[in-house]
Amino acid sequence: MIGPLDPFGRSINYLRISVTDRCNLRCIYCMPPEGVPQMSHSEILSYEEIQAVVQAAAELGINKIRLTGGEPLVRAELPKLIKMLSRIEGIQELSMTTNGTLLKNNALALRQAGLSRVNVSLDTLKPDRFRYITRLGRLKDVLEGISAAKEAGFDPVKINTVVMRGINDDEILDFARMTYEERCHVRFIETMPFKAVADFVPSTELRQHIGLLDKLEPCTSITGNGPAVYYRLVGAKGTIGFISPLTEPFFCFRCNRMRLTPDGRLRPCLLGEDEIDLKTPLRNNASMEELKRLILMAVACKPERHHLGRGNVRLVKRKMSQIGG
Ligand code: SAM
Repeated sequence: MIGPLDPFGRSINYLRISVTDRCNLRCIYCMPPEGVPQMSHSEILSYEEIQAVVQAAAELGINKIRLTGGEPLVRAELPKLIKMLSRIEGIQELSMTTNGTLLKNNALALRQAGLSRVNVSLDTLKPDRFRYITRLGRLKDVLEGISAAKEAGFDPVKINTVVMRGINDDEILDFARMTYEERCHVRFIETMPFKAVADFVPSTELRQHIGLLDKLEPCTSITGNGPAVYYRLVGAKGTIGFISPLTEPFFCFRCNRMRLTPDGRLRPCLLGEDEIDLKTPLRNNASMEELKRLILMAVACKPERHHLGRGNVRLVKRKMSQIGG
């Protein structure tokens, strides 16, 4: 079963769910130092409401779910939600994106609850710089979290690195070298202008730079439908992916996803402003058929492409933490 088709023939089979807008870090490209006004508990969807949305999505052919945030692990009893979602027929992949700071004590419970994959965001391997970029965190916690994830059986762990010019672009080769020894996927992301504190570095420039280490060979075996384009350094165990929302136009042409915000709005495009309210109908006892109709409406609203890019940079109104990255 394929996901519902949008007006441009893309099969939408992937839903990213932000389970909370709260985060225990304040990354400079994502949030202001004081954080963002927090949604109250009653504003965000309950686990039962999220379950209902996923049930409707699965009935339409959406088979991949990713939990994100904010920081998903700051929401209480996350394994409970994972268990609820993993039981829904048709869901083939249930993954999570986390900053890794709370992973050490949660990895095993997440795995046992049915989580299939974990991506950890990590922008630097230097403790002082980590504190500068995240404003609150400790690198040690994340590194221990990654080890715990591996021990719990998550394999491979994906590392997401937002590359900021003049801030961490001198560490690209260190991240790339990690793939020689470890079966990890390191993915470099162009910084998007949610909070204009840092300049992005185009992926082409990163590829040229990494090419100084060795030949980078395209790796087609794990392309999937996601936005990353993968390569492998000759002889390396792991791979290097590039996510290029600003410079590589096929980023949108392969888009297969929608996003659900913590307060129950379905966003057809991360970088657009359209949202469809699911929370109100959910709280008015909407039927499965009604939820499915609203999800299809969001699919029908997917724009052909986003309009961020060189010369056309504007700030997206919601912060990344309020949408779910
Ligand atoms: N707290 C979790 C984490 O850190 O992975 C999940 C939420 S976070 C918003 C999800 C992803 O979005 C992270 O990999 C983060 O680096 C990325 N992100 C946030 N702001 C970004 C920006 N302005 N440009 C590119 N990626 C961004």
